[in-house]
Amino acid sequence: MAPYEIIFLGTGGGRFTTITQKRRTSGIRILGENLNLHLDPGPGALVYSISEGLDPQKLNAVFVSHCHPDHYTDAEVLIEAMTRGMTRKRGVLAASKSVLKGNSVCEPSISKYHQQMVEQIIEAVPNTRFQVAEVAVSVAEARHTDPDAVGFRFETKEYGDFAYTTDTEYFDGIGKYYEGTRLLMLCVMRPAGKPWKGHMTTEDAIKIVEEAHPEQAVLTHLGMQMIFQGPAREAKLIEEKTGTPTVAATDGMRIIFSDKIEAQTAKPKQGLDKFF
Ligand SMILES: [Zn+2]
Ligand SMILES: [Zn+2]
Repeated sequence: MAPYEIIFLGTGGGRFTTITQKRRTSGIRILGENLNLHLDPGPGALVYSISEGLDPQKLNAVFVSHCHPDHYTDAEVLIEAMTRGMTRKRGVLAASKSVLKGNSVCEPSISKYHQQMVEQIIEAVPNTRFQVAEVAVSVAEARHTDPDAVGFRFETKEYGDFAYTTDTEYFDGIGKYYEGTRLLMLCVMRPAGKPWKGHMTTEDAIKIVEEAHPEQAVLTHLGMQMIFQGPAREAKLIEEKTGTPTVAATDGMRIIFSDKIEAQTAKPKQGLDKFF
Protein backbone atom coordinates (compact mmCIF):
# COMPACT_ATOMS: atom_id res chain seq x y z
CA MET A 1 0.00 0.00 0.00
CA ALA A 2 1.36 3.37 -1.00
CA PRO A 3 2.01 5.88 1.77
CA TYR A 4 -0.15 8.93 2.27
CA GLU A 5 1.43 12.23 1.44
CA ILE A 6 0.47 15.43 3.25
CA ILE A 7 1.68 18.59 1.55
CA PHE A 8 1.64 21.89 3.41
CA LEU A 9 0.95 24.19 0.48
CA GLY A 10 0.53 26.95 3.03
CA THR A 11 1.29 27.26 6.72
CA GLY A 12 -0.05 30.75 7.46
CA GLY A 13 -3.28 31.67 9.18
CA GLY A 14 -5.11 34.70 10.42
CA ARG A 15 -5.76 38.08 8.86
CA PHE A 16 -2.29 39.63 9.02
CA THR A 17 -0.42 36.59 7.80
CA THR A 18 -2.94 36.40 4.95
CA ILE A 19 -2.85 40.01 3.80
CA THR A 20 0.95 40.18 3.98
CA GLN A 21 1.54 36.59 2.75
CA LYS A 22 4.30 36.34 5.34
CA ARG A 23 3.48 32.65 5.03
CA ARG A 24 1.33 31.19 2.29
CA THR A 25 -2.33 30.58 3.16
CA SER A 26 -3.15 27.85 0.65
CA GLY A 27 -4.02 25.01 3.03
CA ILE A 28 -3.07 21.35 2.89
CA ARG A 29 -3.17 18.74 0.09
CA ILE A 30 -3.58 15.10 1.10
CA LEU A 31 -2.80 12.34 -1.37
CA GLY A 32 -3.63 8.65 -0.94
CA GLU A 33 -3.99 5.75 -3.34
CA ASN A 34 -7.44 6.95 -4.45
CA LEU A 35 -7.59 10.19 -2.50
CA ASN A 36 -6.70 13.67 -3.70
CA LEU A 37 -8.03 16.08 -1.13
CA HIS A 38 -7.56 19.78 -0.52
CA LEU A 39 -8.12 20.84 3.06
CA ASP A 40 -8.93 24.49 3.79
CA PRO A 41 -8.10 26.20 0.50
CA GLY A 42 -7.38 29.76 1.57
CA PRO A 43 -5.94 32.47 -0.70
CA GLY A 44 -3.24 30.95 -2.92
CA ALA A 45 -4.55 27.38 -3.00
CA LEU A 46 -5.06 27.34 -6.76
CA VAL A 47 -1.79 29.09 -7.62
CA TYR A 48 0.39 27.08 -5.25
CA SER A 49 -1.23 23.78 -6.27
CA ILE A 50 -0.17 24.49 -9.81
CA SER A 51 3.27 25.83 -8.91
CA GLU A 52 3.94 22.69 -6.80
CA GLY A 53 2.91 20.45 -9.71
CA LEU A 54 -0.28 19.22 -8.02
CA ASP A 55 -2.89 19.33 -10.76
CA PRO A 56 -6.10 20.66 -9.18
CA GLN A 57 -8.13 18.82 -11.83
CA LYS A 58 -7.09 15.59 -10.12
CA LEU A 59 -8.81 16.57 -6.87
CA ASN A 60 -11.66 14.35 -5.73
CA ALA A 61 -12.38 16.07 -2.43
CA VAL A 62 -12.42 19.60 -1.05
CA PHE A 63 -12.81 20.07 2.71
CA VAL A 64 -13.57 23.43 4.33
CA SER A 65 -13.55 23.62 8.13
CA HIS A 66 -15.25 26.99 8.62
CA CYS A 67 -16.36 30.25 7.08
CA HIS A 68 -13.19 32.37 7.43
CA PRO A 69 -11.38 33.56 4.28
CA ASP A 70 -8.04 31.97 5.20
CA HIS A 71 -9.89 28.63 4.94
CA TYR A 72 -12.36 29.02 2.08
CA THR A 73 -11.49 31.68 -0.55
CA ASP A 74 -10.18 29.29 -3.21
CA ALA A 75 -12.80 26.57 -2.64
CA GLU A 76 -14.91 27.66 -5.61
CA VAL A 77 -12.03 27.67 -8.11
CA LEU A 78 -10.86 24.29 -6.82
CA ILE A 79 -14.39 22.97 -7.31
CA GLU A 80 -14.23 24.33 -10.86
CA ALA A 81 -11.01 22.37 -11.36
CA MET A 82 -12.39 19.23 -9.68
CA THR A 83 -15.47 19.29 -11.91
CA ARG A 84 -13.29 19.79 -15.01
CA GLY A 85 -14.45 23.33 -15.55
CA MET A 86 -17.99 22.64 -14.28
CA THR A 87 -18.61 20.15 -17.08
CA ARG A 88 -18.96 17.01 -14.92
CA LYS A 89 -20.52 16.38 -11.54
CA ARG A 90 -17.45 15.18 -9.66
CA GLY A 91 -15.95 14.87 -6.23
CA VAL A 92 -16.87 15.41 -2.63
CA LEU A 93 -17.32 18.69 -0.83
CA ALA A 94 -17.25 18.30 2.94
CA ALA A 95 -17.74 21.51 4.85
CA SER A 96 -19.17 23.01 7.99
CA LYS A 97 -22.79 24.10 8.04
CA SER A 98 -21.65 27.75 8.00
CA VAL A 99 -19.73 27.21 4.75
CA LEU A 100 -22.60 25.43 3.00
CA LYS A 101 -25.60 27.29 4.34
CA GLY A 102 -24.39 30.26 6.34
CA ASN A 103 -25.15 30.95 9.98
CA SER A 104 -25.45 33.84 12.40
CA VAL A 105 -21.96 35.14 11.55
CA CYS A 106 -21.60 34.49 7.81
CA GLU A 107 -23.33 33.97 4.48
CA PRO A 108 -22.63 30.66 2.68
CA SER A 109 -18.96 30.68 1.60
CA ILE A 110 -19.53 28.61 -1.55
CA SER A 111 -22.19 29.54 -4.10
CA LYS A 112 -25.15 27.31 -4.97
CA TYR A 113 -23.81 27.19 -8.51
CA HIS A 114 -20.63 25.53 -7.25
CA GLN A 115 -22.31 23.36 -4.61
CA GLN A 116 -24.59 21.75 -7.18
CA MET A 117 -21.69 20.63 -9.38
CA VAL A 118 -20.05 18.33 -6.86
CA GLU A 119 -21.14 14.71 -6.80
CA GLN A 120 -21.58 14.57 -3.04
CA ILE A 121 -22.00 17.28 -0.43
CA ILE A 122 -21.36 16.41 3.19
CA GLU A 123 -22.34 18.75 5.96
CA ALA A 124 -19.62 18.18 8.52
CA VAL A 125 -21.26 18.08 11.93
CA PRO A 126 -19.27 17.15 15.06
CA ASN A 127 -19.46 13.50 16.07
CA THR A 128 -20.48 12.25 12.63
CA ARG A 129 -18.52 9.99 10.30
CA PHE A 130 -18.37 9.60 6.56
CA GLN A 131 -16.24 7.87 3.95
CA VAL A 132 -14.14 9.55 1.27
CA ALA A 133 -12.25 7.26 -1.10
CA GLU A 134 -10.31 4.86 1.14
CA VAL A 135 -10.44 6.93 4.33
CA ALA A 136 -13.13 7.18 7.00
CA VAL A 137 -13.45 10.70 8.32
CA SER A 138 -14.78 11.60 11.72
CA VAL A 139 -15.75 15.17 12.47
CA ALA A 140 -14.42 16.83 15.61
CA GLU A 141 -15.83 19.72 17.55
CA ALA A 142 -14.01 23.06 17.48
CA ARG A 143 -14.76 26.19 19.49
CA HIS A 144 -14.04 29.23 17.41
CA THR A 145 -15.63 32.52 16.36
CA ASP A 146 -17.53 30.55 13.70
CA PRO A 147 -19.73 28.40 15.95
CA ASP A 148 -19.95 25.69 13.25
CA ALA A 149 -16.17 25.25 12.83
CA VAL A 150 -15.04 21.60 12.79
CA GLY A 151 -11.85 19.57 12.87
CA PHE A 152 -11.29 16.41 10.84
CA ARG A 153 -9.85 13.04 11.79
CA PHE A 154 -8.81 10.76 8.92
CA GLU A 155 -8.76 7.05 9.59
CA THR A 156 -6.67 4.94 7.27
CA LYS A 157 -6.88 1.16 7.25
CA GLU A 158 -3.18 0.52 6.89
CA TYR A 159 -1.43 3.21 8.87
CA GLY A 160 -3.74 4.52 11.57
CA ASP A 161 -5.07 8.05 11.88
CA PHE A 162 -4.04 11.60 11.22
CA ALA A 163 -6.05 14.69 12.13
CA TYR A 164 -6.39 18.46 11.80
CA THR A 165 -7.86 20.60 14.56
CA THR A 166 -8.75 23.77 12.60
CA ASP A 167 -8.93 27.07 14.50
CA THR A 168 -10.17 26.36 18.00
CA GLU A 169 -9.56 27.26 21.59
CA TYR A 170 -8.79 24.58 24.14
CA PHE A 171 -11.87 23.12 25.79
CA ASP A 172 -12.58 20.27 28.09
CA GLY A 173 -12.88 17.15 25.94
CA ILE A 174 -11.05 18.35 22.81
CA GLY A 175 -8.25 15.86 23.41
CA LYS A 176 -10.59 12.91 23.17
CA TYR A 177 -11.39 13.69 19.53
CA TYR A 178 -7.73 13.19 18.68
CA GLU A 179 -6.80 10.46 21.14
CA GLY A 180 -4.76 7.75 19.45
CA THR A 181 -4.02 9.69 16.26
CA ARG A 182 -0.52 9.05 15.00
CA LEU A 183 -0.13 12.49 13.43
CA LEU A 184 -1.86 15.57 14.80
CA MET A 185 -1.84 18.85 12.87
CA LEU A 186 -2.69 21.75 15.15
CA CYS A 187 -3.71 25.23 14.02
CA VAL A 188 -1.58 27.14 16.51
CA MET A 189 -2.28 30.75 15.70
CA ARG A 190 -0.60 32.31 18.73
CA PRO A 191 2.62 31.70 20.70
CA ALA A 192 2.78 31.00 24.42
CA GLY A 193 1.65 33.89 26.58
CA LYS A 194 -0.59 35.49 23.93
CA PRO A 195 -4.04 34.06 24.55
CA TRP A 196 -6.91 34.99 22.23
CA LYS A 197 -10.42 33.71 22.76
CA GLY A 198 -11.45 31.19 20.15
CA HIS A 199 -7.88 30.51 19.01
CA MET A 200 -5.07 28.16 19.94
CA THR A 201 -1.85 29.14 21.70
CA THR A 202 1.21 27.03 22.36
CA GLU A 203 -0.10 26.39 25.90
CA ASP A 204 -3.40 25.12 24.50
CA ALA A 205 -1.52 22.92 22.04
CA ILE A 206 0.47 21.44 24.95
CA LYS A 207 -2.76 20.48 26.72
CA ILE A 208 -4.23 18.93 23.57
CA VAL A 209 -1.06 16.97 22.80
CA GLU A 210 -0.87 15.76 26.41
CA GLU A 211 -4.43 14.48 26.18
CA ALA A 212 -4.31 13.04 22.68
CA HIS A 213 -0.81 11.55 22.80
CA PRO A 214 -0.05 11.48 19.09
CA GLU A 215 3.13 9.94 17.77
CA GLN A 216 3.98 13.24 16.03
CA ALA A 217 2.58 16.77 16.33
CA VAL A 218 2.81 19.44 13.62
CA LEU A 219 2.10 23.13 14.10
CA THR A 220 0.53 24.97 11.19
CA HIS A 221 -1.84 27.87 10.40
CA LEU A 222 0.60 30.23 12.05
CA GLY A 223 -0.49 33.76 12.89
CA MET A 224 1.72 36.83 12.65
CA GLN A 225 2.70 36.88 16.34
CA MET A 226 3.55 33.19 16.14
CA ILE A 227 5.73 33.77 13.09
CA PHE A 228 7.61 36.62 14.81
CA GLN A 229 8.03 34.55 17.97
CA GLY A 230 9.55 31.69 16.00
CA PRO A 231 7.36 28.64 15.35
CA ALA A 232 10.31 26.23 15.65
CA ARG A 233 10.97 27.48 19.20
CA GLU A 234 7.32 27.04 20.11
CA ALA A 235 7.40 23.51 18.65
CA LYS A 236 10.44 22.74 20.82
CA LEU A 237 8.58 24.00 23.88
CA ILE A 238 5.68 21.63 23.13
CA GLU A 239 8.07 18.74 22.57
CA GLU A 240 9.88 19.43 25.87
CA LYS A 241 6.67 19.67 27.87
CA THR A 242 4.89 16.68 26.34
CA GLY A 243 7.65 14.37 25.17
CA THR A 244 5.86 14.16 21.79
CA PRO A 245 8.05 14.90 18.76
CA THR A 246 6.77 18.22 17.39
CA VAL A 247 7.68 20.23 14.32
CA ALA A 248 6.51 23.57 12.99
CA ALA A 249 5.43 23.17 9.38
CA THR A 250 7.07 25.29 6.70
CA ASP A 251 5.61 26.20 3.32
CA GLY A 252 6.04 23.32 0.91
CA MET A 253 6.84 20.76 3.62
CA ARG A 254 5.71 17.21 2.88
CA ILE A 255 4.92 14.51 5.37
CA ILE A 256 5.09 10.92 4.25
CA PHE A 257 2.61 9.01 6.39
CA SER A 258 3.02 5.23 6.38
CA ASP A 259 4.57 2.86 8.92
CA LYS A 260 6.84 5.81 9.63
CA ILE A 261 6.05 9.50 9.73
CA GLU A 262 8.68 11.42 7.86
CA ALA A 263 8.81 15.19 7.24
CA GLN A 264 10.59 16.51 4.16
CA THR A 265 11.28 20.22 4.25
CA ALA A 266 11.14 22.19 1.01
CA LYS A 267 13.74 24.74 -0.04
CA PRO A 268 13.43 27.78 2.22
CA LYS A 269 11.14 29.81 0.00
CA GLN A 270 8.11 31.20 1.70
CA GLY A 271 5.15 33.36 0.93
CA LEU A 272 5.45 35.44 -2.22
CA ASP A 273 9.25 35.06 -2.20
CA LYS A 274 8.74 32.23 -4.61
CA PHE A 275 7.85 34.74 -7.29
CA PHE A 276 10.91 36.98 -6.82
ZN1 LIG B 1 -7.88 30.53 10.37
ZN1 LIG C 1 -10.99 31.03 11.72
